[in-house]
Amino acid sequence: MAASDSISGVAEIPEGSRHDLRHDLTPDAPETENYSDQEGAFGYVHSYETGSRLDGPGVRIALFVSGCPLRCQYCHNPDTWQLKHGVRVSAERVIERIGHFAPALRAMQGGLTISGGEVLVQVAFAGRILRAAKGMGLHTAIETSGFLGARANDEFLNQLDLVILDIKSGDPDTYRRVTNRDLEPTLRFAERLSAVNKPVWVRFTLVPGLTDSPPNVETVAKFVAPMKNVEWVEVLPFHQLGAFKWKALGLEYKLADTPPAPPELVARVIGQFRDAGCNAR
Ligand code: SF4
Repeated sequence: MAASDSISGVAEIPEGSRHDLRHDLTPDAPETENYSDQEGAFGYVHSYETGSRLDGPGVRIALFVSGCPLRCQYCHNPDTWQLKHGVRVSAERVIERIGHFAPALRAMQGGLTISGGEVLVQVAFAGRILRAAKGMGLHTAIETSGFLGARANDEFLNQLDLVILDIKSGDPDTYRRVTNRDLEPTLRFAERLSAVNKPVWVRFTLVPGLTDSPPNVETVAKFVAPMKNVEWVEVLPFHQLGAFKWKALGLEYKLADTPPAPPELVARVIGQFRDAGCNAR
């Protein structure tokens, strides 16, 4: 039994903002890299937020799971990278909690979004929760980097009304510099979502001096523009809200001196996406 489990085998799901620092909640959790989530009866949850308007249509409950194989330089939540940074809870417990909010979420044309960390680290756990949410008549979404897209089988995709896909760069070298991983799996996942006509919102985080070069933006825009399933490209201006977490975790934060993306830069990049034929905002 994990340290955070109660006698009954379940633990409370931490409520709060995605910007709350949480770490080492389950110190004996497996390493993210070695984790194989076959059953999905239990998983590791960082936090959840109710009333979110940022993570899909309507008013939503956003569930943040822990574990991520990427190391984005601009990550706002490095306290979600390791499974141990989450509380081990049963899927049943999470589903019960979502059930309390389901009538209100339906009334506000909202639903459930599972984010992270990287949701596909815990694909079976997420799949169980998404299936249950669909059973409650909720709109369902995930936010993912797509790096582990091959783990999402067709049954998993069938539980989703929307995929919010972070394409962090178009140039492979820049992508690796930003994330410490390869771009290719994300592009293949995007193509698969396009082939099954799954609704997608693409997110692009705009970091001055890192992801903002016109050719880098252009490559993402030209890749996405022909995909009819992509409803929106959302340009997210870099901010420093997560900086304190890097410090608290003793991590080297390379963007300490990077300014927030100014409005004229955001406008230029949105313009590039629009010029390529994307619905961008
Ligand atoms: S994919 Fe998300 S959680 Fe993972 S490092 Fe990047 S920004 Fe952070």
